[in-house]
Formats: sequence, structure tokens, C-alpha cells
Amino acid sequence: MFSGILLDKKEILKYYKPIAVDTHKGIQGHALLIGGSYGKMGAVCLSSKAALKTGCGLVTAFVPKCGYDIVQISIPEVMVLTDEKRKCISNINFDFQPNAIGIGPGIGQDEVTQKTFLKLLRTNKSPLVIDADALNILSKNKAWFLLLPARTILTPHPKELERLIGEWNSEEEKFEKTISFSLQYNVIVVMKGAPTHIVDGETIYKNTTGNPALATAGSGDVLTGMITSLLAQSYEAVQAAILGVYLHGLTADIALPKTGFQSFIASDIIGHIGEAFL
Ligand code: AMP
Ligand code: MG
Repeated sequence: MFSGILLDKKEILKYYKPIAVDTHKGIQGHALLIGGSYGKMGAVCLSSKAALKTGCGLVTAFVPKCGYDIVQISIPEVMVLTDEKRKCISNINFDFQPNAIGIGPGIGQDEVTQKTFLKLLRTNKSPLVIDADALNILSKNKAWFLLLPARTILTPHPKELERLIGEWNSEEEKFEKTISFSLQYNVIVVMKGAPTHIVDGETIYKNTTGNPALATAGSGDVLTGMITSLLAQSYEAVQAAILGVYLHGLTADIALPKTGFQSFIASDIIGHIGEAFL
């Protein structure tokens, strides 16, 4: 048996926490976004910028060396740490405790990247969002599922979900398998799609925002940054996932009359996060 909750405005307002007037960047949450590889630096740039635009106080991006100038120049508000390797991440290394970590956008699946991801899973103490090729690495190494920290958020699109949980023959079976996965490993699964469902054990949240304009390159990378930002701001994991998914979809609903479906791109999601909050 499972229960379903519709994520409409009334439901969302139960979770939203206004920002305190006396807050400052040091207590507003520090998000770490880990990703990028040669030719795919845009993904981690989009995630990092989306994290800032969703309200955390500080964002650090951890990228391969080739990404240093790219991130610094494209998002001056983001701090950058680099790997010793030029084209991919081989040794994730940082000397602070992030309030949340998002890993995966543009990261690729190099052998050395897989090894350092395993090390992160073993040592990490921050709330975690796993997306994109970090999910695919996980699917290739199913024994690592046991290392997932409790309440980790996974954000698969349908293909990534299939790699994680295996094929399904019906919608019902897809949900059954996702619920079992969520219960077995105590994780939250954001089943991205039209619409997106968020599975937290036997509770399924169905999102009501978004439209096909979101079917565009980098859309999911932006979502990862938004959810990581909310986690860094101390939202409980399922609430961060819910609010992130709802606001991400709302940006496209707000922008649609201005951009139409065709010319809406991932940067437009970021550009409308403010209006979505308002
Ligand atoms: P990704 O495939 O990782 O870039 O993620 C795509 C994002 O866009 C997810 O959040 C999807 O839910 C969303 N999305 C894609 N296509 C649609 C659609 N037709 N309607 C609503 N949301 C969509
Ligand atoms: Mg994606």
C-alpha cells in the first residue's frame, strides 16, 4: 500500500520557509557542486548558478582543472576548487564541511572518477544529491547502494531510473520497484518526467508544475543545483526535493507566455527562479 500527495501551491506553502531578516551568507548554507569534465563544464555551471539563485549563501564548485576559468568567468559568485587532473575528476578533495553536496552533472564515468566517487560515499558527512553520470556510476556498481547515506536524494530521468532499478513492464511495477528501492536503502527518489513524482518510502508526491519547455539540455542539471541549495538551507531531504521540483516546474510555467516552448533553455529556468519564489 502507498499514499499519494498532490503537490499544488497549498501543499507547497506548508514546506516553504521564508528567509530570516537577520540571516547572513555564513548561515544561509554552503552548497558544494561536484561535476564537469572536458566538454561538459556547462552542466556544473548551470547547477552551481541555480544553487545560488535558489538562496543558499555560498556555492563552491569542484571541477577538473580545465574547468577553472570556465566556472570563474561564467559565474563570478561561485568559488572554485579544482582536481589535479585536467579533463575529469580523479580525487575529490575539500577542506570544509558543506551543508549539502550535489554530485553528477557533467561528471562523466572515467575509472578514476568512479573510484573517487566511491571514496566520497565512504567518507561523506553532508546531505547528498546524486544525479546524471554519478547515478550511472552507481548503477554500474550496485554493491555501492549499501553505502548511500540515509536520506540521500537521487534524481534519475527515466533511463537513469531503469539502470538503477531494472526494467519494468507497467507503470504500477515501476512505482513498486522504486518504492522498494527507496525503502531498502532509505533514500528519496525523484522520478523525473512529465509529471515528476517524488518517492519517499511508501509516500509518493506528484508534482503539478512544469511543461514540455523543460525538455531541453541542462534542465536536470539546474534541478540538481536547486535541490542541493535547499538541502544546504536546512530543508529536510524530502522537503528540499519537493520544493525544488515544484519551483523548477513553475519557472517554465511562468516563462512560457514569454519564450514559447521552443526557445526556452536551461538558463531561462535559472532566470525565472526568482519569480517562482515570489
Ligand atoms: P534531465 O533529463 O536530467 O535534463 O531532466 C529533465 C528535467 O525536465 C526533469 O526535471 C523533467 O521532469 C523535466 N521535463 C522534461 N520533459 C518534460 C515535460 N515534457 N514536461 C514536464 N517536465 C519535463
Ligand atoms: Mg540529467
